[in-house]
Amino acid sequence: MCGIVGYVGHRPASDLLLEGLSRLEYRGYDSAGIAVVDDSEIEVRKRLGRVAGLIEMLELQPVAGSIGIGHTRWATHGEASDINSHPHRDETGRVVIVHNGVIENYDRLKSELAMSGRGFRSTTDTEVVAQLIGWKLDQLIESGRAADDPETCWDALQAALGELKGTYGLGVLFRDCPGHLWTTRCGSPLVVGVGDQEFFLASDTSPLIGYTRDVVYLDDHDTARLGSDGIEVRHRDAGIRDIPVQTIQDEAVDIELVDCPHYMLKEIYEQPESVRSALRGRLNLDDATAVFGGLNADLAEVRRIDRIVLTACGTSWHAGLVGEYLLEEFARIPTEVEYASELRYRNAPLTDNTMVFAITQSGETADTLAALRECRRKGHKTLAICNTVGSTIAREADGGIYLHAGPEIGVASTKAFTSQVTVLALLALYLGRMRHMSFRAGQSFVEALQGMPELISETLECHDRVRRVAMRYADCENFLYLGRQYNFPVALEGALKLKEISYIHAEGYPAAEMKHGPIALVDRQTPSVFVTPRGGVYEKVISNLEEIKARGGPVIAIAGRDDDRIGQLADEVISVPDVPEFLQPLVTSIPLQLLAYEIALLRGCNVDRPRNLAKSVTVE
Ligand code: GLU
Repeated sequence: MCGIVGYVGHRPASDLLLEGLSRLEYRGYDSAGIAVVDDSEIEVRKRLGRVAGLIEMLELQPVAGSIGIGHTRWATHGEASDINSHPHRDETGRVVIVHNGVIENYDRLKSELAMSGRGFRSTTDTEVVAQLIGWKLDQLIESGRAADDPETCWDALQAALGELKGTYGLGVLFRDCPGHLWTTRCGSPLVVGVGDQEFFLASDTSPLIGYTRDVVYLDDHDTARLGSDGIEVRHRDAGIRDIPVQTIQDEAVDIELVDCPHYMLKEIYEQPESVRSALRGRLNLDDATAVFGGLNADLAEVRRIDRIVLTACGTSWHAGLVGEYLLEEFARIPTEVEYASELRYRNAPLTDNTMVFAITQSGETADTLAALRECRRKGHKTLAICNTVGSTIAREADGGIYLHAGPEIGVASTKAFTSQVTVLALLALYLGRMRHMSFRAGQSFVEALQGMPELISETLECHDRVRRVAMRYADCENFLYLGRQYNFPVALEGALKLKEISYIHAEGYPAAEMKHGPIALVDRQTPSVFVTPRGGVYEKVISNLEEIKARGGPVIAIAGRDDDRIGQLADEVISVPDVPEFLQPLVTSIPLQLLAYEIALLRGCNVDRPRNLAKSVTVE
């Protein structure tokens, strides 16, 4: 959440900042703003709303200069408004900052600063940071230090950071040291792009695409100064650091919408390819198992695993639930799926041989990162299942498995879910083959996985049918999503997609559970979406479906091909290819993604920028 950009170099900063903000806008779109060093002043332009509005503003009130910072906001403290938009200044205008994160002790700091005579303009926690740095700077200047000496800026910044509690990624400009840009982080993502006598700062690598592939990843409590003389990094405790420049691979290149109205739709349609990428090079046909390059665990260690914890948030948590079913069925290892936000604060008793997997698309999810760190602190092996190469979780985990799904820009996650399920299936195969799974069983597993990209392509053919169903039910205000076994997490995920982008109340339940309460919600205006392809619990789900029909509730069924029985019972049938039960989520989730998409369009919702949400949840 929140996108930060920065630029130091020889080109007009505002153009680069605006382009970078457009690429990061999926991280927050409450407001946008930039600050550019123009001679001896720092010019700020900011406003409520989207980056497009800021671009219009800059056309009327341009700013010149080749050093600047920018921000696209997802408000945590203070309403979305012009005045609360970033960048924020201190009272004297000497310090201007952009911030991603949450300052937990902002209230106390604000009172102290107010008592010392500082007046606040906004209601954000961020302005407190700007004022605090400014106050420290004033004190240093009063004690005789030169305002235009970079060392004074370093010291003011470090003194202020020492008083902050919470999370931050900051871009900081000092008016009296106009040739430099400072940046620092604690818990929020930041990457520095290194070009030819120029530097880029960004929350993730997307603004760097087309400019440089050479990057420096900052660690928590690193502060960097970027200037025409190069980059200097100092760590709070370790002093000056020599940080290696890494070259990113060209994974993150496909970020433009080409002939597609929305990122969400583009990403739904990319799933045959993204699942293929997740499988690429990871199936060993000779040994009927899976291969991973980055687990960083020796075989003895992997054999000793007696418990697995999958920790995640949101859609990744739903993928984790599918993972639990897979790992317990095929690897026979007791597995728990924990909300990262809960795991981090409860002192769960984990055995010495528990392996913890953090599942996250962005690799920056604040709660998942905190849960991972907590488990690491207690000595557990932690691995990441993550999409974003070089992200904080990918770097901090002991090892992991990348999804290789390409960038996911749509706020409602789609292709990351199917890639996560694919990787978890590979993991179940790998761990299963080290334990009880026979060669033959491994072979059928491998063959089934190999066939999935093609079957996902076939599944996408249901789009027209889904569109017609959406037209009939788009006005309903409540939906139930029901499924059992492998399709229970799919029901949860389908309900989440509908909530996220169409603002319709939807609940996902294990189908048999609905008679313990949710069935009371059933009426003629409340459709139940049954995820009921053929399989071991098919008959049971049919009984649940009959129970809903008996109470007059409309039923939309996601069913196997040519299922006449469902055809007679359900009001609407959307059919998907028949696949082995344990891989059904890879096909049954797709019509539910499309259903949410089509309903959201019919209701006039902004599919890629749903209200109140943003991608990459970097706040707790
Ligand atoms: N806390 C800051 C604000 O509300 C930044 C929020 C964020 O990083 O998402 O403006």
